[in-house]
Amino acid sequence: MSKKHVVVIGSGFAGLSAATHLAINPNCSVTLLEKNDTPGGRARKFEHQGFVFDMGPSWYWMPDVFEDYFAHFGKKPADYYDLIRLDPSYAVIYGANDTLDIPADLDQFKAMLDRIEPGAGANLDKFLAQAKYKYEVGIHDLVNKPSRSLLEFASPKLVVDMVRMDIFQSMSKHVRKFFSHDKIIRLMEFPVLFLGETAENIPALYSLMNYADIALGTWYPKKGMHEIIKGMVSLAEEKGVKIRYSAEVEEIEIVQGQARNIRLKSGEKIDADIVVAGADYHHVDKHLLNPKYSNYTEAYWDKRVMAPSSLLFYLGINKRLKNLRHHNLFFDEPLGPHADAIYKNPRWPEKPLFYASVPSITDPTVAPEGMENLFLLIPLAPDLEDSEEMREKYFHLIMDRLEKISGQEIRSHVIFKRSYAHSDFKSDYHAFKGNAYGLANTLLQTAILKPGLKNKKVSNLYYTGQLTVPGPGVPPSLISGHVVAKEVMKENNL
Ligand SMILES: Cc1cc2nc3c(=O)[nH]c(=O)nc-3n(C[C@H](O)[C@H](O)[C@H](O)COP(=O)(O)OP(=O)(O)OC[C@H]3O[C@@H](n4cnc5c(N)ncnc54)[C@H](O)[C@@H]3O)c2cc1C
Repeated sequence: MSKKHVVVIGSGFAGLSAATHLAINPNCSVTLLEKNDTPGGRARKFEHQGFVFDMGPSWYWMPDVFEDYFAHFGKKPADYYDLIRLDPSYAVIYGANDTLDIPADLDQFKAMLDRIEPGAGANLDKFLAQAKYKYEVGIHDLVNKPSRSLLEFASPKLVVDMVRMDIFQSMSKHVRKFFSHDKIIRLMEFPVLFLGETAENIPALYSLMNYADIALGTWYPKKGMHEIIKGMVSLAEEKGVKIRYSAEVEEIEIVQGQARNIRLKSGEKIDADIVVAGADYHHVDKHLLNPKYSNYTEAYWDKRVMAPSSLLFYLGINKRLKNLRHHNLFFDEPLGPHADAIYKNPRWPEKPLFYASVPSITDPTVAPEGMENLFLLIPLAPDLEDSEEMREKYFHLIMDRLEKISGQEIRSHVIFKRSYAHSDFKSDYHAFKGNAYGLANTLLQTAILKPGLKNKKVSNLYYTGQLTVPGPGVPPSLISGHVVAKEVMKENNL
């Protein structure tokens, strides 16, 4: 059999994963095209005078998913980066002098809960037993399904599993069955925010995220999250993937119902036998294809619940910071009005919650000696008008709180500052509505209800990444690449 030339678009986690899984098939040759001049997509990094900033993800959860990924190629994460388990895993800040350091040790975690709500430690055991089951079935079975037909879910065991996994109950109700103190509820509801919606609208299946958080731990790759991307690029190249940077795709030309010519912005055309698009799904569907080949209408896309966008600040601080941890969740304002500003009545929130990461507390290589690397994130509704004035206003709004609560002057010590928001997500990644984390994992956007991983009209065009199955986040994106690669091989007898 002559080799099939697979063109993968986008060097995010999903594109790299798909490309590498396909490259080890002897019947494939793989070219990966990336519009930017560096790999990683949302997980790129940049450096400035000794500060090394991860541009997107900072939480390393579900270490088993990364192990599985590298094991598929006879490798392990330690071949590429060194992991540290963070302890405390993170800090939750409810107000001035009201911080919870979340211990990595389970017994200490339970003791902490008992101090807040007597009996909550024992309830955590019950809560986690269910969450563990969901994690095992969810991460080792459900997420690996291409979700192209209901028949994939039609085994009696799986039907029983689905009932046990609380698909139809909300996470918010589920948490309240076990805990009643507001602090614990907020702590337990926090992990599903990664899935792009609030606990009211996320199925209780996703308490599996609590298992990931509490039982499997929060980890950090030394030198930063981008080290994962470096490892994946090195592995992809070792397996023969030809990666081309600054190679923006402008059109996927369809010839006799097949994606054949990939036209780059430079005008160059690349022949393809099979195309796997790991760029934002909406961009591929609506901007790279002749409209008659789009999988979905603009009205369909408009009705999707997108995960939030974000306003980010990358800051270089010329002193060490106190009273902060590697990960800090500022829950010093109620979530309700902020969630309303993201999902129901999109607007800039009046009193946003925010997240501050100081990786230099763990890792001296990401800031010059005696200095600190500070990353701030405010989740925002997608598609908001994003101006320099707004960014500045929100910088001061959260700095006021950060300085007051952590009890120190920070602004006058900022020696480097870069902001990043909707317009950057759009121009850097062609992100639909400037989204940061793709499509929310609501019940109506789960499994076969997500944008499908194959084009319905073009038989050799597939999609991968955080807008299709299984969903947003680094581990799901890695899995998405594997799932699509398996479909490509199966359908093309490779
Ligand atoms: C600020 C932020 C914080 C996050 N925090 C976490 C976290 O802590 N933990 C976690 O697990 N997840 C986190 N996430 C989510 C996670 O980063 C994403 O889900 C994941 O990186 C998405 O990978 P992807 O491959 O689907 O998409 P992307 O990373 O966006 O990759 C798509 C690639 O396609 C390229 N591309 C687009 N158009 C074209 C074109 N026309 N031609 C060629 N190339 C093109 C883009 O440049 C990009 O490189 C975070 C995301 C953001 C933005």
